[in-house]
Formats: sequence, C-alpha cells, structure tokens
Amino acid sequence: MSMIRLQNYAANKWISGEGKLAPIFSAVNGQQIAETGSDGIDFKKMAEHARKVGGPALRKMTFHERAFALKALATAIMARKEELYELSYSSGATRTDSWIDIEGGAGTLFSFSSKGRRELPNKRILMDGDLEVLGKTGTFVGQHVYTSLQGVAVHINAFNFPVWGMLEKLAPTLLAGVPCIVKPGSSTAYLAEAAFRIMIDSKVLPEGAIQFIAGSAGDLLDHLTCQDAISFTGSARTSMKLQAHPVVARESVRFVAERDSLNASILGPDAKPDTPEFDLFVKEVVKEMTVKAGQKCTAIRRAMVPANLMDEVQKAISARLDKTVIGDPRLEGVRMGALASQDQLKDVRAKVAELAQVAKIVYGDPNSVKVQGENTANGAFMSPILLRTDDPWTASAVHDVEAFGPVSTLMPYKDFDDAIALANRGMGSLAISVFTHDAEIAQEAVLGAGAYHGRMVFIDRDCAKESTGHGSPLPVLVHGGPGRAGGGEEMGGMRGIKHYMQRTALQGSPTLLAGVVGTYLPGAAQTPATRHPFRLKFGELEPGYTVTTPAREITIADIEHFAEFTGDKFYAHMDEEAAKANPFFPGRVAHGYLLLSFAAGLFVDPAPGPVLANYGLDNLRFVKPVAAGESIHVTLTVKSKTTRKEEYGEVRWFVQVYNQADELVATYDLLTMNAV
Ligand code: NAP
Repeated sequence: MSMIRLQNYAANKWISGEGKLAPIFSAVNGQQIAETGSDGIDFKKMAEHARKVGGPALRKMTFHERAFALKALATAIMARKEELYELSYSSGATRTDSWIDIEGGAGTLFSFSSKGRRELPNKRILMDGDLEVLGKTGTFVGQHVYTSLQGVAVHINAFNFPVWGMLEKLAPTLLAGVPCIVKPGSSTAYLAEAAFRIMIDSKVLPEGAIQFIAGSAGDLLDHLTCQDAISFTGSARTSMKLQAHPVVARESVRFVAERDSLNASILGPDAKPDTPEFDLFVKEVVKEMTVKAGQKCTAIRRAMVPANLMDEVQKAISARLDKTVIGDPRLEGVRMGALASQDQLKDVRAKVAELAQVAKIVYGDPNSVKVQGENTANGAFMSPILLRTDDPWTASAVHDVEAFGPVSTLMPYKDFDDAIALANRGMGSLAISVFTHDAEIAQEAVLGAGAYHGRMVFIDRDCAKESTGHGSPLPVLVHGGPGRAGGGEEMGGMRGIKHYMQRTALQGSPTLLAGVVGTYLPGAAQTPATRHPFRLKFGELEPGYTVTTPAREITIADIEHFAEFTGDKFYAHMDEEAAKANPFFPGRVAHGYLLLSFAAGLFVDPAPGPVLANYGLDNLRFVKPVAAGESIHVTLTVKSKTTRKEEYGEVRWFVQVYNQADELVATYDLLTMNAV
C-alpha cells in the first residue's frame, strides 16, 4: 500500500497540513501507511465558512430535501465500500468488524433518511407538542417549535469506528440543517478521510455543509459561540478537558459527550447452566471481548454471575475463547484482528496491569499471543484477557478502569439486588444486558438499574436469533448514558436531530402561529371552501381550507340498524334502562363508530378525483354522547400536508363533529393520500 498523505477539507478545498506530519502505522504489520497534520489550517475561517456558507444553504432545504441528501450520501458510500474495506484491514479490523463500521455507517444514514421523511414535515420548522391555550377565549396561544442552530457542529470522534462514528453524527446534524466540521481520531483517520472524500466527490451536499480536520483541532474551540455544538466521542479525560474549555463554558456551547464506560452484563438468577440463556450469556461475553478486538465503547467490561456459577461460567467462556483465531484480519478463519495501534496496545496492557492488582487473570497473557499470518511481528495483537475477582466490592478498579481492548472481568453476585448494585457501581454506562427469561427479574432490573444505563438489552431464548446484541448502538434507539458514560445522548431516531436545534416557545394568535408553522392550529381562521376539497389536488389544498356539511339526524332506527349490521349490540346502544344506569349516558346513545361513519357520509365527495385512499385516523376522541333525535354536522379542515412520493402526498384533515347545539361530539385527524 502506498503512503497516504491525509488532507484537511477546509472552506471548499483539500489542503495538506504544513510542517512535519505525524505518522500513522498499520495495526497489522507496524509499517507506516499514512501521515497526517493540520498545522497551518485556519480554523476560524473554517468555522466562519460553515456559518456563512454551509448553514444558510442547509437551512434553505426542507427536512425532506436534507433526508434525500443523506440517502444519496449513503448510496455513494455503498457504491465504493470495497475501497473502504481495503483500507480498514490496516486498522486491524476483520471484514465483520469493518462491516459494522462501513455498512453500519451507511445504514445509519439510510435509517435517518427514511425516518426523516416519514416522521418530519417537508418544512423547515419542526413543531414540538400540542398547542397550549393561554387566554380565556382562545385568541392567545402557545406552541413550541424547533429551528436549526445557526452555527457549526464540531464532531470530535474516537478512533475505533472511523466511518460509523462519523456518519452516526453527520446524519442527525445534517438532517437538522446544521453544517459540521469532522475531526476523527488520528490513528485511523485515513479511513475516515476516505469515506469523507466519497461524500465530497458525490457533490450531494451544498458547499460548506461538511469540512474535515486531519490532525489536531488547533484553536477551533476558541472560535465557538452559543450557536455551535460539540459532539465529542472518546475518553473521559479528553472530554473533561474540552468541557472545561473557557469558551465552551462562557458561550454555553452545547456539548454532547459520549465517553468510555464500564458496561455490565448480568447472567440472570433464573439462567441456570441448562437454560438457553446461560449459553447465550457465554457467547455474548466472548463476542463482546473479541469483536473489534474489544475496542467498543459498549463492550461488556464486567460480567456478573451468581456466585455459585463462577467456575462454570469461567470454564465456558475460556473454552470459547480458545476457539478464537487471532491474526492478520485478511486471512480467512481469523476471528479477531489487532488493536488499532501500538499506542493502544501499550495503553491496554497498562490498564490490564492495573486491573491485575485487584483481580486475577484467568485467561490469556497480555504480553503473549499466538498470531496467524506472516509479517505480523510488529502488529498490535493481543490475547483476549479474562480477569476474575471474587470480591467485587473491594476490587474498585474493576468498576473504574476501562481497558479498551479484548478485556473483561468476571465477578459474582450474592442476590439480584447485589447484581444491580454492582452494575450501578460503574457510575453510569452506555449499555447493560441481562440474560433472563423472567419478566419479573427484568422489571426489577429496569427499576433498579435504568437510571444508571442508557440502553438495557434483555436477551432470552425468544429474541436471541434476531437480537442485535449487547454492544450495537442502533440509529432508532438512544445511544449514550449518564455519569461516567458522558451524560450525552445521540441518535434515538428523530430525538437525535434536536441536539442541533433550538426549542423556542412561540406565543401569539392561533391564526398568526398557524401561518408561521404552516399547519392549521385549533382556533385559527378557516377559509370556507368554494369548491369541495376532495375536488382539489394536493398542491391546491392549503391549511385552513374548510368545508362545513349539512346536518343529519340520528334516529333510533339508525342505531338499531347499525347494531344489527355490525353485530355491536353493547347495552348503551340497545337497553334504555341499563344505559341510563351508566354514569356517562343519558339513555340509549349512538355508537361512536356510527358517528364516524355518518360523518364520512356527510363530508365525502364520492366521485373519482384527487383523493386516492383513506389511510387512517389519529387522535380520535368521542367527547359527548349523541342520542336518538339529535343531529350531527361536520367541519373538515386541511391541517397539514406531507409529500410522500412524486405522484402523491399525505393530507392530514382536522375533523370536528358537532351536535345541533354546536357542541363538539367527536374530533379526530383523518389521513388521506392525495394525487399531486
Ligand atoms: P481520546 O484519546 O479521548 O480521543 C478522542 C478524540 O478527541 C480524538 O479525535 C482525539 O484526537 C481528540 N482529542 C484529543 N485531545 C484533544 C484536544 N485537546 N482538543 C480536541 N480534540 C482532542 O479517545 P480515543 O482513544 O480516540 O477513543 C477511545 C475512547 O473512546 C475509549 O475510552 C472509548 O470507551 C471511548 N469511546 C466512546 C464511545 C461512545 O459512544 N461513548 C464510542 C467510541 C469510543 P487525536 O486522535 O488526534 O488525539
């Protein structure tokens, strides 16, 4: 492999760092493969370029346009993924490890793209929660909204997942409409740079949307403001240093921290050696120790088992570890590659030495390992190391020291309360797993340990096959954890975009605020229909456009006919005495579904036209019963519209059903698909 000179991408240009560049070495054979540096880069200019060029361009795009851009980026990466796999071997990663990083990264972009189009409006303002009525007559209301921050998001990433770690942050940030400066971990920055280049080559994003630092972040933090955000992934030490930066403190720069954590896995008290859960636990601990050579922030560092099963579990884990072939990750049959660098190897050995002061190494030797493959003598290979302590309440280091490699410590618990207390002794983690087939034990775990852990995985015989495992953060679920884990939160579906947006409480009249958010709000002015809205195409419908129907009387014969026809003969509709005895009804009343059906009969304009399909109701409430002899009429108002495909979009209608006294009897949102 020829030597790669990494470049920075600053203000629309690829620029090499000045002066002496720092070498990067192959994790497999120790040869220098790249050099990197960012000396001479004008970081202030980078931040300004993002704010003045990238941000405004992104903010002009709607959520859906940004979501389509994410899909195009993911497609570009997938089309050139083999280039990335090739580079990734040098980081010590096996093909499976790289799959998590490369295709897992692209998958995260795809996931945010499709969820963004499904769950966000095709607009630039995001509503948060319902309207709050603030005045007696409803002319003064409140509505929370989110808008994009007008600064730059600085993403400082760890070395272990150079592609995924970059993309899982870019996805929510770009969807939120905020430009980013990416600073990867240096030891694997060649892989992050290659993936970044693919995105630039794809020309999908507007200028200034993304920039890249290949080396130190220099004085970038000195130039941040209240509109900027830092999303940091890495060690607690670096995180604390950056959080204490005077500009970060002075400007209240948003700081999302994803740090190291001492994640736990508990073998449930019900998971005896003859249960599937026991085997699943053993497999998972070994998997978490060896995938990516244990360099996963979520890896199981502490394995907790009932005291009487310590020997049996130790034997089973050791036997499985024996089968793990370690070596050059290109070789077939190799299950565990190298650590990312010699520095990393040194660091893990030092941490294992610390742990070995309080726990016993019962599997592996930190200084000796059998490696498959030629020319690996200078590689950063290490044996999996299983430690054991029989006194976990005294051996503090096992809860405090993270060896970021194939290292885990086995420890006993007395009872399940003790297991929970030990898990929480990590003082905050990203993920905990519990191997149990008992919902009561699982509930105890949630109540006892939920507050200390960002994600809880329950693995049993029912979900094992499909389970994504202890250590996999997913785009749709929150990733992050309290305390030691950094107190941050990433991803979690559309929750993730809100870290890069400002929530603002708007107050004003319903009509004015409806105009701001582009959605009809209750109490806002309505535009009486001049043509039936079912005759209007998607593009012609405007929020507030309303049709009011004539009234229809509901007779006792209607109620009886409906009961016969549907088979719903609930006493409130059929038995006057019994209905009267019910606290909610004056006597026999119409079925709620009858009201819905009659409402449709009143507002539907039947001939073929732009309305293609009824596809559901939301927020349905029956607020007042309707007795025989009363009549109903309906107002149907366009609430909002969302483009779905080129040919059609979703229309959300606000439906209100009134009685003859103009009292509301039912309300709901009706969804239809309408031709454009
Ligand atoms: P690290 O040494 O703390 O570095 C993290 C990032 O910070 C790197 O990009 C590093 O750049 C950068 N950095 C260091 N000093 C800086 C400074 N003064 N100003 C600006 N940036 C600075 O951590 P690491 O060794 O890369 O990663 C391993 C750790 O990350 C482990 O502890 C692991 O648990 C944790 N981690 C956590 C998560 C999570 O989601 N919670 C995920 C992955 C890893 P250089 O590389 O150039 O020094």
